[in-house]
Amino acid sequence: MGKFVYLFHEGQGDMKELLGGKGANLAEMTNIGLPVPYGFTITTEACNAYYESGKAIPSVVEQQTIEALNRLEEKMEKKLGDPENPLLVSVRSGSVFSMPGMMDTILNLGMNDETVVGMAKLTNNPRFAYDSYRRFIQMFSNVVLEIDTYYFEQLLEETREQKGYSSDPELTAEDWKEVIVGYKEIVKKHTKKAFPQDPKEQLFLAINAVFNSWNNQRAIIYRRLNKIPDHLGTAVNIQSMVFGNMGNDSGTGVAFTRNPSTGESVLYGEYLINAQGEDVVAGIRTPQPIATLQEEMPEVYKQFTETCHQLEQHYQEMQDIEFTVERGKLFILQTRNGKRTAQAAIRIAVEMEQEGIIDKKTALLRVDPDQLNQLLHRRIDDSIAKEILAKGLPASPGAATGQVVFDADEAEQLASQGQKVILVRPETTPDDIHGIVTSQAIVTSRGGMTSHAAVVARGMGKACICGCEALKIDLKAKQFMVGETVVNYGEIITIDGSTGEIILGEVPMIDPELSDEFLQLLTWADEERQMNVRANADTPEDAKKSFEFGAEGIGLCRTEHMFMDSKRIPIVQEMILAENFNERKAALEQLLPMQQSDFEGIFEAMQGYPVTVRLLDPPLHEFLPNKEELLVEVTKLQILDPQSKELKEKEQLLKKVRQLDEHNPMLGLRGCRLGMMYPEIYEMQAKAIFYAAAKLVEKGMAVQPEIMIPLVGHVNELKEMRQLVIDAANHIQEETGQTVAYTIGTMIEIPRAVLTADEIAVEADFFSFGTNDLTQTTFGYSRDDAEGKFLQAYIENKVLPENPFAVLDQNGVGKLVETGVKLGRATKAKLKTGVCGEHGGEKSSVEFFYKTGLDYVSCSPYRVPLARLAAAQASIRFNKEEM
Ligand code: PEP
Ligand code: MG
Repeated sequence: MGKFVYLFHEGQGDMKELLGGKGANLAEMTNIGLPVPYGFTITTEACNAYYESGKAIPSVVEQQTIEALNRLEEKMEKKLGDPENPLLVSVRSGSVFSMPGMMDTILNLGMNDETVVGMAKLTNNPRFAYDSYRRFIQMFSNVVLEIDTYYFEQLLEETREQKGYSSDPELTAEDWKEVIVGYKEIVKKHTKKAFPQDPKEQLFLAINAVFNSWNNQRAIIYRRLNKIPDHLGTAVNIQSMVFGNMGNDSGTGVAFTRNPSTGESVLYGEYLINAQGEDVVAGIRTPQPIATLQEEMPEVYKQFTETCHQLEQHYQEMQDIEFTVERGKLFILQTRNGKRTAQAAIRIAVEMEQEGIIDKKTALLRVDPDQLNQLLHRRIDDSIAKEILAKGLPASPGAATGQVVFDADEAEQLASQGQKVILVRPETTPDDIHGIVTSQAIVTSRGGMTSHAAVVARGMGKACICGCEALKIDLKAKQFMVGETVVNYGEIITIDGSTGEIILGEVPMIDPELSDEFLQLLTWADEERQMNVRANADTPEDAKKSFEFGAEGIGLCRTEHMFMDSKRIPIVQEMILAENFNERKAALEQLLPMQQSDFEGIFEAMQGYPVTVRLLDPPLHEFLPNKEELLVEVTKLQILDPQSKELKEKEQLLKKVRQLDEHNPMLGLRGCRLGMMYPEIYEMQAKAIFYAAAKLVEKGMAVQPEIMIPLVGHVNELKEMRQLVIDAANHIQEETGQTVAYTIGTMIEIPRAVLTADEIAVEADFFSFGTNDLTQTTFGYSRDDAEGKFLQAYIENKVLPENPFAVLDQNGVGKLVETGVKLGRATKAKLKTGVCGEHGGEKSSVEFFYKTGLDYVSCSPYRVPLARLAAAQASIRFNKEEM
């Protein structure tokens, strides 16, 4: 018989899988001597056993629960259901990963018609006792009996109106008794049964509800979004209650040991005097900042700050703490690693290293490389005068512009049509998750920094403003008002989640500056990592940006992007439409100085770092007009102006477009095949590269051009193109008298190139894996069509774990990369290898490339910081594994 129930002191901090995050924490906290109310945890295995028994609590679990309950009763010297001295408990769900809002906590379980009388006597506060009882009925009915809270709220509102009260605290014990009678009628009406009076029955119903909540819709969506497996199950935590609403010497709150928004090392949080936990989280009453606790309860504040310090030292992490003060006595209800913004994550990691709490490697592992991207988000330009409509709490940084919507479904719908929306709500609940996911930003008029909207938005790196009480939202009329100003559904607003400001209309934004901590962390990353990071950049501007972000070279300069310029495209078209060699040559001659000046700019920006220039890659028709549109134009002219010169030209163009038309252009005349068919194109490009390099060398600057031949499938292609580049280099060297050191390599992006990499390496100074094309050709998925046609469905239905164009398919495409490296290095032991597909900026792929022994990854400029950190983490993790 397995053990399904653990008293807190029997568990341990590392038993997360079995006890869930919360349960393991409670065990650990109990064991380090923190003031935790006593209780026990029913394991995640019990949850799985529940489902295996067809959604029934197995008798062994029931027995062990009763035993644990007996122990709890002994320890607390109270008994569940004892009218004289009742034990009350809370019931919480808790899985191995934190899943905010999966199930609301049930408080005060154990209350019934008898124990409420006992509580009234014990606390000498009948009003509190009956208020707790009615709260319990409301919460239990909603969470366990699944009766909409609306009915209870409505009854409460009617009672308030009848009695002429404006708020709940005005209700007396007698009033609450009346409300309780009404509540019980609601329960009877909806369940056809009386509200359960037996506390043990209440307890087991609540345990059932926790297990069921594992498979409710919001939990399933949350797991899908966060890639949490379905089989983990949830634990149930049952803990004796302590009361924050026993008068003005009691209270409850939530706090972070450091500011979760900025990372600053100050206690951060909020509390409410004379209140229960859900009042803080629900955001109905606006809580007070934690700093004022120092004045209101100096002793408690002192004990609390000491406890926070102890917790940080113990967990070596920023903590998110729930606490309650019962008649001047502090209790810690919960602590966990606090969710934080990207900015805070970095500052906390760096400062904790500086404070000696963690070492550099740990600091590096603390920051998710994806979070670095959030910091590269834009923000509102302060130098431009703007009129601030309203200001709320800066709940999650970043700026966003979008149309106002008031409902999660509408947000989702508009977003699916490509609209940018901002979701504005009084507050959000877990049921709004789909709307939050699809919105640019979230604004709420109620709730604090720890409200649902704030926590979820921070987790997603989405801009969010909370508690903006100046907003008077009218959900029915689909508008909000700020003073006299009315903002309707669909109107554009801009918000800044770092300042809490809401502005009408669109506002100019600027690029972010990177904090000292950000730069510090990246410096540590550079010390730690063994793999180089380069950028994919096609213009001098991109190259400059890449250099700023710390790129150690350009891993891919796609020269076709230089052709797309509006001034150049007519010349490119001339080149393509040329009837003979000489005509083509003439067009190429015009292009040469343009390309040359681009290369000069790029080489200069990279200050001597290697620059890999890829010769022309895409099919030529990409530079020509659309065939269908051209056909329409020609047909029109044939009718309207049959003799015109324009018609002749268009017909000529159409003929060429038809000639170049291919059924599978991605598999057609592109890559080095272009160079093979029209060597003069590659020759011009090679010359432009060498002229540019020679010019810089002449000025005394360092340059390291690496010429790259794309889409090679047979060594003979590379052999021929290599010779062409060498000839061009020799030619320019003779002409300019400047010697430029250069290398010639190839992209490995066709399976045949991988399989014959040993042959290809003979002709190559380096390999750069083009994992975009390699994914396309390995899966046989058209990279232009797959994502729109079937890939999304594949991912949703878990046919594929991830989009292979974003996250490297390690088992398939990855194996080809490994093979290519191995075969290439069998020919040339020191062959330089890198990757320049999208995967070079994706963290799990970066780790794979490191393990495979690549010398560098190359990614888009904005992802360079991410790749630097991911490469450092790979070094740390991989070396650790080896040890
Ligand atoms: C690739 O195929 O991975 C690559 C980098 O080249 P492109 O995306 O330009 O085809
Ligand atoms: Mg490619």
